[in-house]
Amino acid sequence: MINIVLFGPPGSGKGTQAQNLIEKFNLKQISTGDLFRYNIKNDTDLGRLAKSYIDKGDLVPDQVTTDMLTDEVKRNADANGFIFDGYPRTVNQTEALEQIVQEVLNSKISLCLSLVVEDEILVGRLLKRGETSGRTDDSNEEIIRNRIKEYYAKTAEVAELYKQHGIYVEVNGVGAIEEISEKLFAEVEKIK
Ligand code: AMP
Repeated sequence: MINIVLFGPPGSGKGTQAQNLIEKFNLKQISTGDLFRYNIKNDTDLGRLAKSYIDKGDLVPDQVTTDMLTDEVKRNADANGFIFDGYPRTVNQTEALEQIVQEVLNSKISLCLSLVVEDEILVGRLLKRGETSGRTDDSNEEIIRNRIKEYYAKTAEVAELYKQHGIYVEVNGVGAIEEISEKLFAEVEKIK
């Protein structure tokens, strides 16, 4: 079983690259951002709670996020492997994911693929995406900058944990989508 954490700041291309990786390696993608947006669209209690954080560009609290993620892993426990897109985003979530993957799947995180993109490019990409995405958190520069601030304050240190485990690989996230995908594919092939 291959379990990949796709890591990087907002706008680094995680969603796009996750799509290519799941097709290439027949994996199941779990995006906590997508799960929240699904709940918001359906106006669930979880959606309403999450929206109050997401609209400001803040992270949703760990416990609700991890509970939602755990349910989704359990629902797909027969998958070949997973791409975790947008989770973990805190040290607490990183530890929770280790445990979930161990207990539910009897497996481990195989690789953390980190997309590296500089901040001003991220802001430009997200503002552009906001023209068509309909996402409230892409709609204004202040919220976008707060999301990037949250990334440095709470998420960047997740990379240190995966580095310590020796499973962290950085890939330049600027360039043609297909070229970036090829680099990611090559890293996955190394661990197959
Ligand atoms: P994304 O689609 O990954 O950019 O996520 C959109 C928003 O959902 C983030 O800015 C957070 O507010 C929230 N979110 C998604 N994943 C997480 C997570 N793992 N922990 C906390 N909040 C999250």
